[in-house]
Amino acid sequence: MKYIFVTGGVVSSLGKGLAAASIGTLLEHRGLKVLMQKFDPYLNVDPGTMSPFQHGEVYVLNDGAETDLDLGHYERFTSGELTRLNNLTSGQVFDSVIKKERRGEYLGSTVQFIPHVTDEIKIRLREVTNKNPDVKVLITEIGGTVGDMEGLLFIEALRQFALEVGKENVCFIHVTLLPLIKAAGEVKTKPTQQSVAKLRELGIQPDIIICRTEADLDEANRSKIAMFCNVEVKNVVAFRDVAHTIYECPLDLRRDKIDRLVVDKIGLGDTPAPVLEDWERFVQRIIHPKHKVTIAVAGKYGLQDAYKSIYESLIHAGALHNSKVKILRVETEDIEKRGAAEVLDGVDGILVPGGFGERGIEGKINAVRYAREQGIPFFGICLGMQVAVIEFARNACKLPGANSTEFEKETLYPIISLQEEQLGVEDMGGTMRLGASDSYLIADTLAHRLYDGANMIRERHRHRYEFNADFRERVEESGMVISSLSAKEGLVEIIEIPDHPFFLGAQFHPEFHSKPNHPHPLFAGFIAAALEYSRT
Ligand code: GLN
Repeated sequence: MKYIFVTGGVVSSLGKGLAAASIGTLLEHRGLKVLMQKFDPYLNVDPGTMSPFQHGEVYVLNDGAETDLDLGHYERFTSGELTRLNNLTSGQVFDSVIKKERRGEYLGSTVQFIPHVTDEIKIRLREVTNKNPDVKVLITEIGGTVGDMEGLLFIEALRQFALEVGKENVCFIHVTLLPLIKAAGEVKTKPTQQSVAKLRELGIQPDIIICRTEADLDEANRSKIAMFCNVEVKNVVAFRDVAHTIYECPLDLRRDKIDRLVVDKIGLGDTPAPVLEDWERFVQRIIHPKHKVTIAVAGKYGLQDAYKSIYESLIHAGALHNSKVKILRVETEDIEKRGAAEVLDGVDGILVPGGFGERGIEGKINAVRYAREQGIPFFGICLGMQVAVIEFARNACKLPGANSTEFEKETLYPIISLQEEQLGVEDMGGTMRLGASDSYLIADTLAHRLYDGANMIRERHRHRYEFNADFRERVEESGMVISSLSAKEGLVEIIEIPDHPFFLGAQFHPEFHSKPNHPHPLFAGFIAAALEYSRT
């Protein structure tokens, strides 16, 4: 296996994850089997307990791992199957070292950062290597910024690892920022020089430097960076701000032939130049759409990345229908204050995403009611499905005050509740239904049609609460259709209302299965309905 390590310098939020994912796309289009992973220096064992409003979305894998949102980019940009092994945090590293120490596995030696902690990081690299014998290139992104104290052990582990597997099998890529000082009209290279100097101090000489720039990178600056960062001029690559969509990133990086530089470094230079027609067509459909729909995403807002995969899925589905998807971020507390009719006026579709906690819940319920009564296409995901059921129970089944026990323990009508066996479990984490599982679709339903007549589907979950089976009949009598049940437990997976242009809620997260040229069928159906609605 060959290894690419991607580090970041100067500032965070540089698009390091997108740069790494784009290199993945280009190498895959060279016919190489690629796998991507992320090392995160924070102490959380996984991002599952972190607030999406601070850290961005928690991205769930098929095996149920709760991972960093960059893994979402990896899955959308490349086709390698990711597992919990592909996201390593300092929390996991230390947890493992301490457990080994307690079990006496270090045979009495003094347990130290070096070699024990760095060894643990290398063990993971070897584990991923051994588990994926058919993978040719493993791309590892190191979270954080070089120079941060918390990243030091990862950098040291990579330095050692490169020596062990042979430097000819490893390519170090450093992504930095070239700030533009507007008043002077100058692009500055000094932060890049200093960041590379820091990396070299830690024993790593980058092979390629990717410079994130607002403007273009001129020859003078390229030469300057090359000279003072000790790389060849051709190995200084520009990564410009893309004009329309993140899916332009691989095309932009290809301009400076990054894929060629990488394969030359790791001895895979005999692979053919990438043909990216499919990707280019997809990008063109995003840049030049024929139609336009406005979709309200009615959620809670803090950091913009909280609903990342949902936005991307909407874009993928829009591209399929040649449509721009304008996303209106609706704060549901705003609906509580100003009313759904005012806040949601003029939208072509309403999406209520997943979430936890009570804040904004009534606003979400009002958004559902508005969509249901006005015949506006509605798509509920996870919590969004649960609030759709609550709204229906309250207003269509006449069960006043129906609620989820997540928000009201003693509600008279606990239409959404914990499964019996989960009651009494207090420990957060480990109590959720996580990862991909099978469910079957019921014939003659919207869901069955959207999934092209499939009988079984396999989707990813991340939730604790469920549709309460005691209320099934009551809800069905009032016109809600249950169109999918989980294969194992018979839990409700999809609900819909037939007498409506498009009203569907899914207990799982379809947004984790959408790819640029393969939008998820539920998103594709939702956007088609929104387009239809926009024409009325
Ligand atoms: N809070 C809800 C639950 O735990 C929904 C979770 C979600 O939307 N991901 O079931």
